[in-house]
Amino acid sequence: MTHISSTADIAASDAIRQVGVIGAGQMGTGITQVLAQAGYNVTVLDLNEERLAAAIKAIGRGLDRLVAKGRLAEDAKKEALGRIRTCVEYVTLSDCDLVIEAASEDEAVKRAIFKQLIPVLKPSAIVASNTSSISITRLGSATDRPGKFMGMHFMNPVPVMALVELIRGIATADETYHVVHGVVRRLGKVPVMSDDFPAFIVNRILLPMINEAVYTLYEGVGSVESIDAALRLGANQPMGPLELADFIGLDTCLAIMQVLHDGLADTKYRPCPLLVKYVEAGWLGRKTGRGFYDYSGEKPIATR
Ligand code: NAD
Repeated sequence: MTHISSTADIAASDAIRQVGVIGAGQMGTGITQVLAQAGYNVTVLDLNEERLAAAIKAIGRGLDRLVAKGRLAEDAKKEALGRIRTCVEYVTLSDCDLVIEAASEDEAVKRAIFKQLIPVLKPSAIVASNTSSISITRLGSATDRPGKFMGMHFMNPVPVMALVELIRGIATADETYHVVHGVVRRLGKVPVMSDDFPAFIVNRILLPMINEAVYTLYEGVGSVESIDAALRLGANQPMGPLELADFIGLDTCLAIMQVLHDGLADTKYRPCPLLVKYVEAGWLGRKTGRGFYDYSGEKPIATR
């Protein structure tokens, strides 16, 4: 990779004006918000209007919180909201210079999305995936432009977390990397480069820890509350691992463990059967109102 400065990367990213975001879940919503706040025009696509309406509402609430804290002017909030449009048809993404895929962590879903996206895209457009774990090289090869494809892994919640992991597939061109690096800098985030190995850096380390916490619960070593309190108070983690699993989404956690297990073929990555059971039950964490905690009341209540 050629080395150029961050300032040069920011200049290289000048060509990016219109950005598409596919998937308006917790990540797509946050990514849309930070892009619009940074001045990009954003088109967000999801399966249906209800999800899109919920995303716009969530972004409105997020921006309102910033206004209330004095960190964003009312006018800037209105301008940011004015830069966002929503759609369910891929053709609406045809003017995008960059499209960030942030749909569910399922390779088949992502491949099906690229199949619909590629025919409408400009030849110059860059495609990035927010995948937490899936091979960027493999996803890129499912497009017509592996050189213009890379991983852009935001952290949850996107408006709060500083890091964006950048992952180059084997075919990712230097120019693509520099442009995306520049976009990340324009968002005020800090890019860290990871090689294209299962789950990259953050989740390669974080998810086995969460999976071990679920085993610790499964084997009866501790309750949900004792495991979370132990790691909060004993390892100075801001959130306990089970709280964090609920926050990430248990389906996403399981999908990442499966990618680690399949990709590295080491039994140490075996997903805990209790995690599998929770996902089978549809107990996916905060987003469904129940995971290791029950979120139906005012305060989360531990379920075990
Ligand atoms: P989510 O379940 O909150 O949202 C997924 C969204 O994708 C939903 O709105 C769904 O309707 C949409 N979707 C599904 N299939 C689609 C399709 N074919 N076309 C268009 N939209 C489709 O999930 P999330 O937590 O936002 O995760 C999204 C991606 O971000 C995943 O790849 C995940 O691994 C990654 N990620 C998640 C986290 C996290 O903490 N949750 C952190 C970093 C990255």
